[in-house]
Formats: sequence, C-alpha cells, structure tokens
Amino acid sequence: MATIRILEATVANQIAAGEVVERPAAVVKELLENSLDAGARRVTVDFSRGGKAQMIIEDDGKGMTGDEAMLSLERHATSKIRLASDLDRIATFGFRGEALPSIASVARFTMQTRTAEAPSGAEIAVNGGKIIHRRDHGMAPGTRIEVANLFHPVPARLKFLKSDETEAAHIVRLVRLYAIAHPEVGFLLREDGREIFRSPGHAPLLDRVREIWGRQVAEEVTLMPVFERPGMKLSGLLGKPGVSRGTRQDLVTVVNGRPVDSRTMAFALTESYHTLIPKGRYPLAFVFLEMDPAWVDVNVHPAKREVRFRDEARVRNFLIESVLAVLRSRADEGLPAETIPAVMAAAPFTVNPAAGPTLSSPVVVPLTSGPPSGPPPVVTHATAVRLGWRLLSRLREERAVFETPTGLAILDVGAAHQRVLYESILKQFSEQNPVSQALLVPLAIELEPLPAAVLRERLPLLQAGGFDFEEYGRNFWRIAALPAWLEPEAALAFIRDLLAEMARREGDFGRPALAYDALAKLATQKARRKGDAMSDGELMELVQSLFRTAQPGTCPRGRRTYVEWTDADLGRRFG
Ligand code: ADP
Ligand code: MG
Repeated sequence: MATIRILEATVANQIAAGEVVERPAAVVKELLENSLDAGARRVTVDFSRGGKAQMIIEDDGKGMTGDEAMLSLERHATSKIRLASDLDRIATFGFRGEALPSIASVARFTMQTRTAEAPSGAEIAVNGGKIIHRRDHGMAPGTRIEVANLFHPVPARLKFLKSDETEAAHIVRLVRLYAIAHPEVGFLLREDGREIFRSPGHAPLLDRVREIWGRQVAEEVTLMPVFERPGMKLSGLLGKPGVSRGTRQDLVTVVNGRPVDSRTMAFALTESYHTLIPKGRYPLAFVFLEMDPAWVDVNVHPAKREVRFRDEARVRNFLIESVLAVLRSRADEGLPAETIPAVMAAAPFTVNPAAGPTLSSPVVVPLTSGPPSGPPPVVTHATAVRLGWRLLSRLREERAVFETPTGLAILDVGAAHQRVLYESILKQFSEQNPVSQALLVPLAIELEPLPAAVLRERLPLLQAGGFDFEEYGRNFWRIAALPAWLEPEAALAFIRDLLAEMARREGDFGRPALAYDALAKLATQKARRKGDAMSDGELMELVQSLFRTAQPGTCPRGRRTYVEWTDADLGRRFG
C-alpha cells in the first residue's frame, strides 16, 4: 500500500507542463508573452525542426538579476500579481508563474538575462528540471531563452507531437498573431536561420500586415477609422466586400494586445458582412478592441486563447455598428476609381413603391434629394456609369461584357439583378409606413408555436412595415394586407423565412437590415422569375441601378456581381 507524500518539485512541474506546454508553439507563446510583459521593443524568434530540436526567444526587455532569474524557475514565482484581487485587472499576459518552471522541467533550458543596471548578465542552465549551472554571462540588457530537445525528459509526450511541418506551421501562425497584436514591437522570425518575416516596430498597420501576412492579404483589406464607446475602443483593418475565406484563419481579433478567439467577436464580424460574402464563409479582419481589463475574463485555460466579456451583447453590438458603418461608407472599394462617386454611400435612392421592382420600369429612379446632412456634391454612379461603361457583348445568356474606363468588365446579370432587387426591398422593408396593399382574399397561415410567439412579439414592427396580421385561432393567422413590394404568391414563404430569422437573432431584431437572409432569398427568387430575356437598354439600366446600390460589388449572397481586368492586368497578360 503506497503512503501519501508531496510530489518532488520536478515531477509537479512536469505535470503542470502537461497543461501549459502541449506543443512547441505553446512554449513560444509563453516566452513571447514574457518578453512582451518585460517591455521588449524587439523580439527575435528562432526555431528548428518544428521547434522540437530548438527554440530561441531573445528580447531587449527589462531582464532579470541573477537571483530573480533563479527565483523565476520556482513554481508560482511571478512578479506580476500578488493578491487574488489583482486577478480582476490583469494587464500582463502572465500571472500564474508556471511557464518557466514547467518548460524547464521538460527540456534542456538555458536562460541568459541581464537588467540595465547590472554590470553583467547571468546564465542559468537546466536539464529536465535539474539546475546544471549558474554563472556570469556578458551580454546586452534583455533576456535570451533557449529551449532544446523539448519533451526528451518525458518521452511519453514526444509521441503526441505532429510532423515538423505541422509544428512549424503552428509556431509561425502564433508569432504572426503576436506580431500583429503588437505593432509597436519589432519582430524577426527565422526557421533554421532562414527569415520567415521581419517587421520593424511602429510601422503603419497596413505595412505591418503586408510584412507579416503577405502582399495579397494587404491588398484585400482597408483601414477602418477608430470607433469609441465609453470604456471601449475599436480599430483595425477590414476585408473588402466580396473577399472571404473558408476558415477563420484571416479573422484576427485582438483584445487589449492579446490575440484571442472570441465567438462573440467572430460572430459580430461575420454578421456585419451579410450579403458581402457567401454564407458559411468568413471575412478578413484584423480588429483591435481595447477595454477596461475588468470587463474581460482572460483567466481561462492556460493553453487556450478564448476570451469572455462581462457584457457580450454590448461588445457584439459595438462591433456590428462600427463595422457596418465602415462597410457602408466603403461600398466603393474595389470599384474602378473613375466610377467612384463622392457620396454614394450616403445617397438615398427612391423607389416607386406601388409598381414594385420590375426591369422595364427600373427599380431605381434618379436621385431626387441629397443626404440629410449638408449639401451633397452631386456626383452619382449613374453619371459615372453612363460615361464609363459600354456594353460590348453578351456572354452565354447570364453574362455581359463591358468596356470600362479602366479596362474590361464581365457582369453577372443575375447577381447584379439580385443586388438591385435586394436593396430596393430592404429599403422598402425598413421604411416606416410604406405603401400597403389590402388583399381581396386574405391569406391564411398556420405557424409552429415558436414562430407564432415571435410574430406576436414583433407584431408592431411588422404592422409598421405594411403587414396586417390577425390571430383568429391558436397559431392560425389571417393576413389582410401586405406591403406593396411583396407579391401575395411569395408572401407565405417569405413570412416563414422572416420569422425563423427573427427567432435566430432575437436580441437584435429592432433592425430590419438584419432580415437579410429572408430578403436575399426573396430577391433571388424575384430575379429568377424575371427571366433572362433582357434588351440592351434594360441591361444598361440594370448596370446603372447596380451602381446606385450601397454595395454594387456583391450580390446579396456575397458573390461578386462583376469582375474587372484593368488595362494594367491585361498588359501583364500580354507580357
Ligand atoms: P508569469 O509570466 O506567469 O509571471 P513565468 O513563469 O512565465 O510566469 O515567468 C516568471 C517570472 O519571470 C515573470 O513574472 C517575470 O518576472 C520573469 N520573466 C520571465 N521571462 C522574462 C523576460 N523575458 N524578461 C524579464 N523577466 C522575465
Ligand atoms: Mg509568463
């Protein structure tokens, strides 16, 4: 029968290491965070064989004295918090005091460190948790930590490591994230001496993204202005409409300098791109949220990046509002410069509500008034298009080829049509007291309990939108009037879609714009019903209407409405 005893420090550290360092990238994360906590202005990361053979993290931060360095290897030794109450306002990455002893217990660990005041530095070498030596070491102020033969002292864990390539990919991804999160710090990342990226501190954010994420990504994003709410600040770069990814890899969220995963933030960003990217895909974004540390919970699993907010709804709404404001004002991104009007995003367009959108009576009639605030410069897309786009030919029914002031464009007629119809419907749906049509024969609809409850709750919003509902039995409803834009044949399906969407987005449904799924579906069906027999004149009207919409670049399902080859592109193709 075994007796109870306290574990030896090394064994306890090796067990803790199981949580803190699951793979080489986790070691890099802990050491990088320590460097940033130490106020480094420059950090260099070197690794080889996916970090399995060696990782070196070097910084020019405040360093440690020899005694502090010895102490830092003790479990629960930290300079960052003292009291449990400090946990409520952590401004540093670390606070557990576990990383260094854990790492040192499962590798060959060499730390060289020096403070600015000390005449020379110290070197401490540890192997599998046992101190090998401590001696003086001449060096500049800062800290250099080398971790070699990771997990050799605990062979069972070696088996769980993936291929060198996979582990290397994790390290590269991690260092990229931290470099983006800390634009004030210079970063250098090397694999086997080969430079992967280098980025000096204090570069403009877009340059930073180009250096770290690459040229292509830099071309797909634009700078957003800074938004503020009491206690919160948002800034960063946002992907252009129509640019999307199948994964969240380029959806980067940073909270108080910490790269994090936040379902709330990812959801808010993805929602904001509705109709600008296809459903199920993710936008590009590099967003930085700063807020009172007391509102953020980072005291979660050491190896996870997940973050929780004290008020998730407030964060979500702040993000959605800010991003939508940017996207609305940047609707012109990706359009050729010559066709960008000065006030497109703000310019209202009017619709003939009684007639409903049809092709022969164009959905959009010319601008009648400027935006409410201030006299607008009267430049419209319509003018620009009339001057700029010339129809060259049809391409297999659904497409049309245009000469543009900057090159050659191919228009997807259906997609363009859907965007025009969608915005027209959205506009009317959002309008207070729109034209309503009484039905000669009322429609009847039976609803499941959930949608019926949603309908009861949202009745005022729908009544204001031109619907007239009356409950005449349990979950049976009679519809006596519809808004003019909604044809009776399409009404029942639309109402079901709308209620489902409202149920899904409960909290947010003061905002009709968020009915985009139901509206997009309706627009798509309408566009299909109009058929594709369109005269050249109608086609030109469509193009003009398209460029008067808020987001001409994509259809409401987020696919591109047109692609353009500039003269420069074509020149390159011809060599
Ligand atoms: P924590 O970061 O949770 O405090 P660590 O085990 O990661 O715990 O580090 C222990 C302590 O060692 C830190 O609190 C800090 O005082 C010191 N330290 C670690 N790395 C560095 C570094 N690169 N520069 C200066 N001090 C460091
Ligand atoms: Mg730490």
